[in-house]
Amino acid sequence: MKIFLDTIGCRLNQAEIETMSRQFRVAGHEIVASADRADMAVVNTCAVTTQAASDSRGKVRAIARAGVSEIAATGCWTTLQPKEAASLPNVKYIITNEKKDLLVSEILGLPKESFDHEPIDRVPIPGLHRRTRAFIKVQDGCDNQCTFCITTLARGEGRSRHIGDVIRDVNSALAGGSKEIVLTGVHLGSWGNDFGLHLRDLVKALLQDTDLRRLRLSSLEPWDLDADFFSLWEDARLMPHLHLPLQSGSDSTLKRMARKTTTDSFRELVDAARAAICDVAVTTDLIAGFPGETEAEFAETLGFVTEMNFSGGHVFSYSPRPGTGAARMKGQVKPELRKKRNRILQESIERSARSYRERFIGKSMPVLWESTTEYDEFGWRMEGWTGNYLRVSATAPSPRWNELDNVFLQEMGEGVIRGEIH
Ligand code: SF4
Repeated sequence: MKIFLDTIGCRLNQAEIETMSRQFRVAGHEIVASADRADMAVVNTCAVTTQAASDSRGKVRAIARAGVSEIAATGCWTTLQPKEAASLPNVKYIITNEKKDLLVSEILGLPKESFDHEPIDRVPIPGLHRRTRAFIKVQDGCDNQCTFCITTLARGEGRSRHIGDVIRDVNSALAGGSKEIVLTGVHLGSWGNDFGLHLRDLVKALLQDTDLRRLRLSSLEPWDLDADFFSLWEDARLMPHLHLPLQSGSDSTLKRMARKTTTDSFRELVDAARAAICDVAVTTDLIAGFPGETEAEFAETLGFVTEMNFSGGHVFSYSPRPGTGAARMKGQVKPELRKKRNRILQESIERSARSYRERFIGKSMPVLWESTTEYDEFGWRMEGWTGNYLRVSATAPSPRWNELDNVFLQEMGEGVIRGEIH
């Protein structure tokens, strides 16, 4: 069969369709780049915001319109709204998150062990989700109850994958030519809690027992880390980039969010990271307009964000999610005020991100090329990432997808740094 794999939302969803791709290929099926060439499709849906849920439905409908008669819907939105997912056109399979690891064996009617011992090289998924970097799922679910979060409801309790399974996936990715491994999970920093280990043990094992060249950690909740964790970065293969979701810079808002952090402990952690890791990029997530957020609390958040001098980040306007504690809270902020606060926070982050990027103009840094486009008869335009997550573009006479080049960083562009390959 020709299979089309589509996903929306987080890196974990991307990691999961990469695993499905490998399993379908082990079973002798072909992964195709677009729905109009497929006999069957899988859509890994998302529910993190109202918009993501709507986009998930839109993707299923578009795939049905492209002529795919058999669609499997899985992921967070499907898990929370199985009936609605089943009512969408051509949806034949509803696979909720707790069964997602068995999706391919279930659809193909194969025993679940069919893929356990089948080492097969990772091949990037063709089409939109083609990535050089291999996203590796190491953990799922979460035991926290942040009051705005629907993911913890959709993904269930926290559970970690064993080191052996993770190393197998990493080796499959390396055998498939990946030059960067990205560890991902719902609550990555809680890896190992269920068997008395810590994420630091997994990182050490991967650096010790595999030939990986670049290792990147996805989003980490600040309360899972301590200053000692940053000694891991003595190994230069660990990318100097920490994504630490702050969500709010006001302690009273953090309390209503049930976040296990305060501005003092967050500041201390970031200071420790910056002291330990040279030129580390610290990026973050923020929620604008959380229920009950007063002008004073917003001013606190803006002040703290400016002080933290982030290297980048995402600002989400608060989106009430059915079933979460925050959706039932009094003092819901008007949508237009959420939007206004979002814009102000985004501008603050963009200012500090720009001054962070400017620090590297005139320097040479290794860049892993992620996308290539032919731009004229003389060459190709590439875009890729440095270790500290700077987006860089350059041109070359031939495509250099998935190549690691040393690049002289010449000048600032819009959100990208233009460089020259050495
Ligand atoms: S730590 Fe909080 S925000 Fe993150 S997945 Fe868990 S409940 Fe959601």
